[in-house]
Amino acid sequence: MQLPREVIVGNHVLDKIGEISKGLGFTKSALIIAGAKTNTVAGKKVRRILENEGIRVETCLVETAKLKDVEAVEAQIRITKPQIVFGVGGGTKIDVAKCSSARSQIPFISVPTTASHDGIASPLSSIQGFDKPYSVMAQSPLAIIADTKIIIRAPWKLAVSGCEDVIAKFTAVKDWQLARDEKDEYYGGYASSLALMSAKHVMMNANLMRKKNEEGLRVLLEALISCGVSMSIAGSSRPCSGSEHMFSHALEVVRPNCALHGERCGVGTIMMAYLHGANWKRMREVFRRVGAPTTARELGLSKRDIVKALSLACSIRPERYTILNKLSLNREGYEHLARVTGVID
Ligand SMILES: [Zn+2]
Repeated sequence: MQLPREVIVGNHVLDKIGEISKGLGFTKSALIIAGAKTNTVAGKKVRRILENEGIRVETCLVETAKLKDVEAVEAQIRITKPQIVFGVGGGTKIDVAKCSSARSQIPFISVPTTASHDGIASPLSSIQGFDKPYSVMAQSPLAIIADTKIIIRAPWKLAVSGCEDVIAKFTAVKDWQLARDEKDEYYGGYASSLALMSAKHVMMNANLMRKKNEEGLRVLLEALISCGVSMSIAGSSRPCSGSEHMFSHALEVVRPNCALHGERCGVGTIMMAYLHGANWKRMREVFRRVGAPTTARELGLSKRDIVKALSLACSIRPERYTILNKLSLNREGYEHLARVTGVID
C-alpha cells in the first residue's frame, strides 16, 4: 500500500513547497511538469521557491496526456536525473508526471491547479495511447500540495465536475459490492467506506458548494484526496470507478472530448443509481443544487449518443463486473433508463 506522506490543503500553502521538498529529502534537483497555462498560474512560482532553496530545477511543458508526452518526459528524466517530479496542473499534467515518474522509478508530488477529479491524489493515470481507454496503475503521489488560493481562480465548472466525480462513488461502491456478492471478487471494506464517506461529505455540503468559495473548495479537495487514498488502499480504482465511469469512458469513445470527466460520470451516476434501486432522485437533486448538468442536452449530447454509450459501457472493461453486466439490457432498455431518469426526453 503506497500512501501520500504529506497532504497540505489551504490558502497560500504553495509557499511551503521548498520546506516540504527539503523535509522529504529532495535538496538537489527537481523536474516540474506543467502546461503553458498552469506554468504561469503556479509552475513558475514553484520553480522560484525551489531555486531559492538551492535546488536545481528544470521545467518540461506538456499540453496533452499521450504516450508521446510520457516518453518525452522520460527522456528528460534520463538526461537531467531529477530526485523528484512535480506535476503542476489539472488532469493531463498530473497524469503525465505521475506516469513518467513511476516508469522512471522516481517519486512525484502532486500540485493541483484545479479540483476537477480524483486523479490529483490517486495512484492511477489516464494516458491516451495505451491499449485501454481507462486509467492504469502508476504510483501514489508522495505529497499533495493543494493551494486553494490558486485553485479558486480556475473556472468553477471544474470544481462542480469534481463534486460529481466524488458523488459517483455511491454507484462505484454499489458495483463493487455486487461483484463481491455475485462474483466472489475481493472487496475492501475500509477502502469502500472511505470512498463512500467522501461522497456523503460532499452531498452534505452541497449548499456550501453553491457559494463558490474557498471553504467549499476545501471540503471538495479533502474528499477528492480521500478518494485517491481509497484507491491506494484498494490497490485499484474499484472503490471509485464503477458502471458510471464505464458510461463516461464509453461516451468518450462515442463523442471524444465531450463534457468534463465529472460531468459525464455525474449523469452516469443518476442512471446507474436507478439500476441499483438507489435514491437516484436525491443524487440528481444534489447535482442540480451544485449547478451540475443532469441531462444529455446540458452535456451537449444527443439521445443517440447517450443510448450508444450505454450500450457500449459494459464492454469497455469486461473484467470489471457491474450492474450493467448483471442486467445486460438491450437498446430499448437503455433508452427507457435514460428517459425515466430524465437524461433524455
Ligand atoms: Zn473519476
